[in-house]
Amino acid sequence: MVQKETKEKLNFSYARRLGQLPGYLFVEIDRKKKELIKQGVDIINLGIGDPDQPTFTHIVEAMKKALDNSRYHHYPMGTGLEQFRQVSACWYKKRFGVEINSAKEIYTLIGSKEGIGHFPLAFINPGDVVLIPEPAYPVYTSSTIFAGGTPYYLPLLEKNNFLPDFSSVPQAIREKAKLLFLNYPNNPTAAVADKIFFEEVIRFADKNGIIVVHDAAYSEIYFEGEKPISFLEVEGAKEVGVEFHSLSKTYNMTGWRIGFVVGNEKLIKGLSQVKDNFDSGVFDCIQVAGMSALEDSQEAVEKIRQMYKRRRDILVEGLRKLGWDVKMPQATFYVWTKVPGGCSSTQCATKLLEEAGIICTPGKGFGPSGEGYVRFALTVEEDRLKQSLERISKVSF
Ligand SMILES: *Cc1c(COP(=O)(O)O)cnc(C)c1O
Repeated sequence: MVQKETKEKLNFSYARRLGQLPGYLFVEIDRKKKELIKQGVDIINLGIGDPDQPTFTHIVEAMKKALDNSRYHHYPMGTGLEQFRQVSACWYKKRFGVEINSAKEIYTLIGSKEGIGHFPLAFINPGDVVLIPEPAYPVYTSSTIFAGGTPYYLPLLEKNNFLPDFSSVPQAIREKAKLLFLNYPNNPTAAVADKIFFEEVIRFADKNGIIVVHDAAYSEIYFEGEKPISFLEVEGAKEVGVEFHSLSKTYNMTGWRIGFVVGNEKLIKGLSQVKDNFDSGVFDCIQVAGMSALEDSQEAVEKIRQMYKRRRDILVEGLRKLGWDVKMPQATFYVWTKVPGGCSSTQCATKLLEEAGIICTPGKGFGPSGEGYVRFALTVEEDRLKQSLERISKVSF
């Protein structure tokens, strides 16, 4: 049967909220990258925040075993398996010394990005202001916009150790602000927050009635000095906020999609009401694998910390030798550095791509205060980093 040609084409337009999302800044760099790859140029990709190493073997084995158990093949419980929540609470207690009620103060997530993305829908009304640090992980802005909120950006400046300066927030904004996003150890700046800072956050939140959302995706990727602390370690934190955790970066599990949120019971309840209407939880087998990650030996995590540390030392020392002004990161697998020779972050990234076949992320992509910086991810082998330095040494800035 010959199909009739559709006479009228559906004339659809995108919802306004999509138009409100910040535009993608690197169309041109992306085009060049694809072109160079097509030409067969050997590209070293220092742009992606995704661990290059496989998920630890014992976690994969736990998953394989779980798959044979048909009990795990059904709809998961929204909250997550009771056992997964208990194991997460136990890990939390052991790592941070914080007591978590596994029945009420923890919720399993399809990766922390999912939880962060949905959180504002439970608390933000049109007109509410959300305080967002920048440069930052882009999801804080998009989730705010999807909830009808208005972002107010807090610049993270090197002179303040990349911590926001709350004293600069005008009174009118404080009155409308309902939520504050924070992320330490920080992507992209690699900065770490201490107890004194979190105490200031709690005072600020308390005084102004602001919910604190702390994204701790990199809490286990640290090098020397003191381990990064949890927001909930600080007195009063559980009254004002929640903390998002991810298994992705710690256990090389980015593809598995599992994380959890801990903290204030009422806040978690709000998020759970949103999630109950969107998703049906995390596949039980993945939660069983996640339990193995959190509760078995953490030796493999120590090994990857050492691996990133070796890579960090190679890249930072190498760049410094070439005259770059680089701070030694104490945590995360990123190196956040000022660009040399007064170029813009986009010019620098373009130069590195065209003249050295190296992909990095221009700082401006994370927010205006990222201008003048680029981010290198330590997610390639040492010899590739050495090769990168060799190539960078031939680029004139
Ligand atoms: C990678 C990353 C996440 C997301 O982690 P998932 O648990 O994989 O969703 C969240 N926040 C920051 C800052 C990240 O870099």
